[in-house]
Amino acid sequence: MEIIVLIVAGLSVGSFFNVVIYRLPRGENLAYPRSRCPSCNKPLRWFHNIPVVSFLVLRGRCAYCRAPISCRYPLVEIATAGMFWLCWSRFHSQPVHALFCAVFLSILLVLALIDLEHMILPDELTLGGAVVFLVYAFFHPGFASPWNGVATAFGAAALFAGIYFFYVKVRGMEGLGFGDVKLMLMLGAFLGLEGLVVALLLASFFGLLVGGFMILFRGKTLKLALPFGPFLSLGAFFSLFWAEQILAAIRSWFAVE
Ligand SMILES: [Zn+2]
Repeated sequence: MEIIVLIVAGLSVGSFFNVVIYRLPRGENLAYPRSRCPSCNKPLRWFHNIPVVSFLVLRGRCAYCRAPISCRYPLVEIATAGMFWLCWSRFHSQPVHALFCAVFLSILLVLALIDLEHMILPDELTLGGAVVFLVYAFFHPGFASPWNGVATAFGAAALFAGIYFFYVKVRGMEGLGFGDVKLMLMLGAFLGLEGLVVALLLASFFGLLVGGFMILFRGKTLKLALPFGPFLSLGAFFSLFWAEQILAAIRSWFAVE
């Protein structure tokens, strides 16, 4: 029963995230007007808007003009439901923490998809998330002291700001966006020092993997600019659930016996 409620809630909230991902970077109002087809601009009826189901019934096309609908829509809905279920199954003995985990992952999912498409990380999400999770650091059940989160947040942001200004000054270009600096506040505040280190290691690893693939097989050069937000989000996701196991694995790989 719990599972069904969570999945339905996740799918519906995910449907709202699709609206945020589309409208926030375009500076549009999130609540009004009702959803329209981006191709023919006709307002959608409620039965065109049922998460996943409508996409399948309409076979991925607009009901009016038959323009293809991105499969991002059902995927975001399914991912949100999956995240909700994961947070609950892992942290149900601490319901408040489970809720904050779900908020954390939701913000990261929306940020990652906006960054992929627009190469920006909106302040509403990075700084808004920073405020929420800096306050939450004082109640975090995993932290012995709230300063673990607060110091990690500001330390990591300072480090990233240093890298940012180094690139701008020395190389005359942005090595990473300033949005990534702001994102560090939220990640550090919620993951704490160990969790953030794991997230950054994974993000760099994923970034190198994808960057290397694009250079080797897609004819890109080293000047290739990839948004770092999606990799950070993915790293933070794995770190949130499996930081200890990942750290143990890294230690055992590098252990000198
Ligand atoms: Zn249409």
